[in-house]
Amino acid sequence: MKNKILKYSILAAIIILTIVQVGCTKELQMVSDSTYMLGTYLQLSVWTTNKQEGMDTIKSSFERIKEIEDKMSANLDESEIGQINLNAGKTYVEVSEETVDIIERAIHYAELTNGAFDPAIGKLVKLWGIGTENERIPTQDEIQNALQLVDYQKIEFQGDNKVKLSEADMRIDLGGIAKGYAADEVTKIMKNKGIKHAIINLGGNVVTLGKKADGTSWKVGIQDPFEPTGTHMGVIEVYDQTVVTSGNYERYFMADDKRYHHIIDPKTGYPAENGIISATIITNSSTDADGLSTSIYVLGVEKGMQLIESLENVECIIITEDKKVYTSTGLTERFQIIDSSFQIEN
Ligand code: ADP
Ligand code: MG
Repeated sequence: MKNKILKYSILAAIIILTIVQVGCTKELQMVSDSTYMLGTYLQLSVWTTNKQEGMDTIKSSFERIKEIEDKMSANLDESEIGQINLNAGKTYVEVSEETVDIIERAIHYAELTNGAFDPAIGKLVKLWGIGTENERIPTQDEIQNALQLVDYQKIEFQGDNKVKLSEADMRIDLGGIAKGYAADEVTKIMKNKGIKHAIINLGGNVVTLGKKADGTSWKVGIQDPFEPTGTHMGVIEVYDQTVVTSGNYERYFMADDKRYHHIIDPKTGYPAENGIISATIITNSSTDADGLSTSIYVLGVEKGMQLIESLENVECIIITEDKKVYTSTGLTERFQIIDSSFQIEN
């Protein structure tokens, strides 16, 4: 009798083991798709044993990004941000909880950077029109006038989710942080669907989900700011983290041999000019990384590095016009320069 039980137990164990093994050896395959939203090229890649499920996850992710864009784009009058802007100086506008959350997150970075990052930058962004058909160098008067309207302290809240801009013509623009939020939301969707390995790339806002399928870290290339998109000057090893870059090569126009790019210094009203041409943040939350990369770009090397070193679990790579590369202290082991014309400064 005992022998029989033992025999059946062993048999059952073998069957279970075989099932588990067949399950495990089912090959992971990559499913990838891309589209254009949030003013940029988006690419999502997931590794999955079920191709259809992978494709469905990507589809839901793109739908979620569209939803975020429809709420938070400053370029759409009918978006929640568009409505706040249209009613500036007039009335409170009721918006969704997530829009309030992102405005508040943006204000947090405005406070942390003493206004170098400012979600009320909209009037200046619109005036310069960089990346649109209206791009031009504004007059001094126009800049002076717009500067009066850039002040995150004039964003007012009422109740749980009503927002008002205290002066007419003020505009909120979440372009410096919304892509990071979208990337975090996509990461959440993928985790919920049981995806263990993915790369979320929203126009250079990268999130690595898990490790690579072979168990090693991802290698994320850092764009060479002097070369076409896809040329890398260095590589960083990461997993379960985000790598977000703000650069002067993303959107700009040239006039009289000068580059006018899309990151505006709220103190001067002109594109930030302090020697930095790219700032990359490596951390856990892509919303934070996005807010911080734009912040560091405006703050400059010294203040920017000081801020990053004061934050826990946040690292950065700053590249200046003269091809110097500044890295935060926690990064040394994980970052490698692959183009020797760039020099590490410490
Ligand atoms: P990208 O959009 O290229 O990823 P950023 O994350 O740095 O780059 O965001 C730049 C965008 O942020 C601009 O297009 C504009 O919408 C907005 N912006 C520009 N200057 C500032 C600023 N000083 N503070 C907050 N947002 C800004
Ligand atoms: Mg940003």
